[in-house]
Amino acid sequence: MSIFSDLKMYGRFAWGLRGFLKHTLTLEEAKAIIKKRMEEREINFLRLVRKGIFGYIKSPYLPLMKLAQCEMGDIENTVKTKGLEGTLHTLREAGVYVTFEEFKGREPIVRNGQVIPVKAHDFDNPYLSTYYYAKTGGTTGAGTRVMIDLEHIADNAPYLMVAYNGYKVLDSPIALWRGILPDTSGVWHILLGCRLGHVPQKWFTPITNQDIKPALKNRLATHYIINLGRLFDVPIPSPEPVSLDQAAIIAQWAAEMSKIHGACLIRVGVSTALRICIAAQEQGLDLTGVTLVGGGEPPTPAKLKGITRSGVRWIPHYTITEAGMVGLGCSQPVDGNDLHFFKDALALIQYPRYVPGTEITVDAFHFTTLLPTTPKLFLNVESDDYGIIENRSCGCPLESYGFAEHLRHIRSFRKLTGEGVTLIGSEMIHILEEILPSRFGGSPLDYQLMEEEDDHGFTKLSLIISPKIDIKDETEVIDMLLKALGKSSISADLARALWRQAGTFRVKRMEPIWTARGKFNPLYLARHSGR
Ligand SMILES: [Zn+2]
Repeated sequence: MSIFSDLKMYGRFAWGLRGFLKHTLTLEEAKAIIKKRMEEREINFLRLVRKGIFGYIKSPYLPLMKLAQCEMGDIENTVKTKGLEGTLHTLREAGVYVTFEEFKGREPIVRNGQVIPVKAHDFDNPYLSTYYYAKTGGTTGAGTRVMIDLEHIADNAPYLMVAYNGYKVLDSPIALWRGILPDTSGVWHILLGCRLGHVPQKWFTPITNQDIKPALKNRLATHYIINLGRLFDVPIPSPEPVSLDQAAIIAQWAAEMSKIHGACLIRVGVSTALRICIAAQEQGLDLTGVTLVGGGEPPTPAKLKGITRSGVRWIPHYTITEAGMVGLGCSQPVDGNDLHFFKDALALIQYPRYVPGTEITVDAFHFTTLLPTTPKLFLNVESDDYGIIENRSCGCPLESYGFAEHLRHIRSFRKLTGEGVTLIGSEMIHILEEILPSRFGGSPLDYQLMEEEDDHGFTKLSLIISPKIDIKDETEVIDMLLKALGKSSISADLARALWRQAGTFRVKRMEPIWTARGKFNPLYLARHSGR
């Protein structure tokens, strides 16, 4: 998928944008769309499988279906008897699933000794959505999908409409601190806001031309979209560069808007949200009335504590770029990472799997896309996450649309390897975000563990500590980290013993590394940095 690969696509986009901007969604329409999609989940699933998998000779799922000796008729029958989720479980048991690494094209699919080579783009949705509704195949044609797909954005707009209505922020000023292209999230959120008839006032971008030089075509594409929008009388804001260490600028905007209008909302990442809150506290700003909606990284307990301490309302947001919105925060949450799952566009099952190299089993999330506008086709695709799916009656407005499942405690089972020992990342994150800051000072954004290889090819784990933190004896930090690991679990204790022996840890005094897209991960895995 490209942003726009040729003039024809620019033309199609311009034509599409005009219609997209002309029609803003109403609350009633949003409710009706969700209701219809909830009722038609099974029909939608079967349509996607029939045309997008069995009707597409190059589908990477076809060899898996063949191995499982499964045909379209079998799937139809199983849906009738076991329902949608039951069918997905049956397929998973028969080996029809794709791991995160396979989906990203980093590893071939291996099932029953058979090797199926795959590339990431093999999972692209091969057809435009109109094709799925066409009675006959053929001439309706495939056409190439673009990354900024207006129909896909339109399909996600109803969630924000009903959620913002529930949070009572439909009339509040909105800003975002999201990147410009090639990071699509900024444009995505701008256009989503336009669809709601609620254009963001400010677009702060953490990516500046100094950090990366967006290719000319990306810079042009950003300007093209903004200018086109203005041509159609929609006042799309120009991106204003605000680097990560300038979070105070955004905190000031938020405090001011909240003072004038009583409320405001900013769309952020989890770590950038924390930066805003730390800046506000440093400047003595009052963030009462400010709502931060964020995602992109797991909102860990330590980060949440830092965010909510500032007085903001925190709404978690879970999105898979290749599939769309997965969930948005409940307004009667039990903790800071309690989301309603958007069941009308996705199906989700859990299936146990080992974390490679460990004895740990997690109930991995497997997602399946249901709507024809999905950028990629998911059929039991692991998202590298696991967590809790809970049926709970919370009484918030999102529940009334049938979104009864809550997702909680979502964590990545991304691994951390050194000296042949693999640790599940969450144990290390707890140490980096809570234990070290509480002993040596600073925030969760001041510590990071970086995996890299030394000149001999040995994995070294560098503990990066911001120079702001005053530490007299660096070995004391390593000792503390190893001691905490030893207490964490048996496998962590084993890792501790081996890592101490091998001198695997070393301290580096430098500012922790953020991705070019303004994300912060406490575990910076240099060799697995594709996410
Ligand atoms: Zn709720």
